This record gives sequence, structure tokens and C-alpha cells, in this order.
Amino acid sequence: MMPDWLKQVMEEGECCICGGPLKGSQINFVNLNKIVTWPFPVWGNILVVDEPWQRAMAILCDNCVDEEKGVIKGEVKRALEIRDGAPVYHDVDELEDPRHLKRTEVIRMLGIIRIPEAKKISFVDQIRKELADEWVRLHSIFKKETFDTYNDTVRKGNKQTYSEFAESLRKDWIEEMLVKRLKKRP
Ligand SMILES: [Zn+2]
Repeated sequence: MMPDWLKQVMEEGECCICGGPLKGSQINFVNLNKIVTWPFPVWGNILVVDEPWQRAMAILCDNCVDEEKGVIKGEVKRALEIRDGAPVYHDVDELEDPRHLKRTEVIRMLGIIRIPEAKKISFVDQIRKELADEWVRLHSIFKKETFDTYNDTVRKGNKQTYSEFAESLRKDWIEEMLVKRLKKRP
């Protein structure tokens, strides 16, 4: 069920933190808050609905991931492109940072999931800052769980691409993530 490019990456590819072989590791994708210059693989910041699927990803070996805590160990040095089915690596330092979220984008997103405080400026600013700080980590965990779930649904006959599948989960996921964060608020 694993696509050919992923098989090849897991056989021959290298970890984007330590440079060690991926062979024998689980599939550990992480999302980088950097703009891509290639078409695949990419992820979209789901808050920025006008700019989908344009950020870079990296793949890591098991040694560079703390699975229990859901965090990575070390600094991601390279991003992964798949070109003609084979891995090509890019220096993260050479990729551009994305722009900051606009207040209007946060308001729209909060409105979509019907959070009543969406019109309060201080609330929106706080959410915007928190999401900017935590976004990549949260989204990375999402990706890994989603990939496992996706493979299950493909086995049961789902014909969607991974991107279509992830996109269809997007609203539920934002809602769940935000509700969790809002509950922590005093
Ligand atoms: Zn590694």
C-alpha cells in the first residue's frame, strides 16, 4: 500500500536531521515552516486557506524522534523533495520563511468553526501568536497520525489521494486542536 516513492525513500533515503539511513525506521514526516520551490511533497498551513500545500517537509529516522512526547530531537537541516520518484535534499537555511498570519485569516478560521470570541481583537491576537509558536509541532503530529489512518482507509477501498484525504479532515482537526487549547485558558 506504500507508494513507490515512499518505498524508495525508506530504502535508500537519509534522515533530514542526522543524515543517517532511514532503513528500518518508521515513517516520520515533519512539516517545516518554510516555503517550497518544488511540487512534492508539501503541506499546507490550514489556516491560510488561500495558500494551500506549499510548505516544505522533512523525513526523520527513529533516533531523531521522541515518539512518546511527539517531538523531534535536534535541528532539521534538510527538506525533502521527491523528483522522478527519488529523494532530493535541500538545505533548510536556503528556503524562505512564510509570511505571518494576518488577523483577518485568523478571524475567518475562528468564524468557520464558530468560536464566538472570534470578533475580540485581543483574543484573535493571542490565538495568532500561539498558533505561530506551536503550529509546526502540532501539524507534524497530525500528519503522522493521518498517514496511518489514510493507509487504513485505502485498504478499505478509499480512492482519495493523501492530500484530498488530509484536506477533508482539516476542519475537524482545527476545531479539536483549538478547543483543546481554549480549555487550557484560565
Ligand atoms: Zn536521524
